[in-house]
Amino acid sequence: MRKAAPYILVVMLAAVAGGVFLRYRGGREAASTAPVARAGTARHLVLVTIDTLRADHVGAYGYRAGTTPSLDRIAQGGVRFDRAYAPAPITLASHASMLTGRYPAGHGARDNLMPVNASVPTLATVLHDQGFQTAAFIAAFPLDHRFGLSRGFDVYSDRMPRGPEGKLLNERPGRQVVDEALGWLEAHRGGRFFLWVHLYEPHAPYGDPAHAAGRSPIERYDDEIRTADGQVGRLLDGLGPVLADTIVIVVGDHGEAFGEHGEIGHSIFVYDTTLHVPWVMMGPGITARGAAITDPVCLIDLAPTLLALLGTGKIDADGVNVRPLIDGGHLPARDLYAESFAPLVDFGWSPLRALRSGAWKTIAAPRPEMYDIERDPNETTDVTALHPDVQKKFADRIDRYSPAELAQSPDAIVTSDREAATRLRALGYVQGTREKATATGRADPKDRRELAARMGLVVSGELQGKALEDALRAILRDDPGNPQAHLRLGDCLLDQAQWAEAERHFSVAITGDLPSVDAYLGLAACQSALGRRDASEQTLRKAHELEPDNPVVSANLGILESQAGRADQAIRSLTEALVVDPDFHEARFNLALAYARAGRRQDAERAARDLLSRLPADAPQRPEVERLIAALGR
Ligand SMILES: [Zn+2]
Repeated sequence: MRKAAPYILVVMLAAVAGGVFLRYRGGREAASTAPVARAGTARHLVLVTIDTLRADHVGAYGYRAGTTPSLDRIAQGGVRFDRAYAPAPITLASHASMLTGRYPAGHGARDNLMPVNASVPTLATVLHDQGFQTAAFIAAFPLDHRFGLSRGFDVYSDRMPRGPEGKLLNERPGRQVVDEALGWLEAHRGGRFFLWVHLYEPHAPYGDPAHAAGRSPIERYDDEIRTADGQVGRLLDGLGPVLADTIVIVVGDHGEAFGEHGEIGHSIFVYDTTLHVPWVMMGPGITARGAAITDPVCLIDLAPTLLALLGTGKIDADGVNVRPLIDGGHLPARDLYAESFAPLVDFGWSPLRALRSGAWKTIAAPRPEMYDIERDPNETTDVTALHPDVQKKFADRIDRYSPAELAQSPDAIVTSDREAATRLRALGYVQGTREKATATGRADPKDRRELAARMGLVVSGELQGKALEDALRAILRDDPGNPQAHLRLGDCLLDQAQWAEAERHFSVAITGDLPSVDAYLGLAACQSALGRRDASEQTLRKAHELEPDNPVVSANLGILESQAGRADQAIRSLTEALVVDPDFHEARFNLALAYARAGRRQDAERAARDLLSRLPADAPQRPEVERLIAALGR
């Protein structure tokens, strides 16, 4: 399946190694035919989170495109929450709130890259303490174990595959995630268990935009939802008889904007376009069949509710146990909060904080907004001027969830994890030139929405070739220093073999201090293509200082060293890359070549045979490796 991060140094590697490496194949799944759970006591818990899934694209929520037969069956066998909201429109913050029951301020992950506070209990730590076997199977990098959600899990599978150009991919297909989950279930029959499965298909880009076959982005988004739903069906089928003792819950972590409020993607604004999510569940103790719950709930309610349904105690949470709603009752009215810190962290704009209370939703911003969401659920008419008293009251209440002062100090909440930042940008989390606050405060994201939308479109992966190049040039006209746009324009030009111009853009990106070595890798590729090998090697050495463990940097250094006749150095660099990632096939191929150049035929043959044993039977590179082995044997 597609979605490889655009990767620069393929130019250098391909010149030597040739060929394209492993790709995934897509495939549609049939809807599940597993039985519905019976009433009784729940022993097990299966939580499925589907990334970027809007509630209004789910059949149970009225969508007619037939996207979600498996989710619809869960809703029919149990309940659906018609008004469920994410506390933040971004993956890590939202998932951390699900697992801790807390708003982002209570767990610390205010944005992607910001780790969850290690002292906060989670659904996994609580259930693990209660003797549950626990496992999580993760489909994308924002939930990597380094960000703190792996605590309490016996197994936390978050290793991403390598892409066609040797670089680690940011995501993996749901089929692979569910295969692993089913394998784990098979090996853990017996005790109580908590299984979390994360599916990423609906996240942009939607399918392969280069082979869209006339299908619109929304149609391709729906295709991806069908694929994810098919995996939910496989999981239900795989549970077999255990399903009857299991709470199965499926939720979205946030929605997706297709131009609503001028937004593309998610992570900047806090309109319900990106906050309204599906929440369906069934299992023992959920006796309603196909009931719709209309009271508003938040994903922070998930952990307290699941612990109550499992009869396994409580968690110190902002959310509440919503079981009374499931049983047909009501809960006292309460405020629900949501926030977005990506505008601050990525752009230096004001963060956005929202409060939902009864018919009202208010958004704290330099120019505050208020909507009558009962009459105007699409938030099209700002009624702040009509109800200044209500707006003022809400502004004070919002400060209880997150004080306004924090809006002024982005550096305090920005990570320095360079590799992590790089990969998140490749996933579509944008980063512009961070704007400084002025005397009048930070920019209101509303006033930057065109720039945000253009960046959103660029990072979505939906634009290709000339359209992508034009969009990047337009961003640079408005925001000439934007290092991310320079980097991506450099990539575009590199693809077109326009080395000299690409080199200029990579150089500007480096000056802009992007927290990644991607610009160095691009610059090195240009310098090498222009015949300036020494400069290329120097650039790679700087990159190596910044990211000593980056195997792509080490491997490319090794290739240059090998070409320069410094075989021992080359062997060292290529081995270094393979220590970090033994499945970096291009590096192993070049290691075999370096051994051959050094006259070490046996080592060369061993490396080549090792590579052959690691390549799948149908890998297109096998003939090339076999030719090398044959040549070494002569
Ligand atoms: Zn997400």
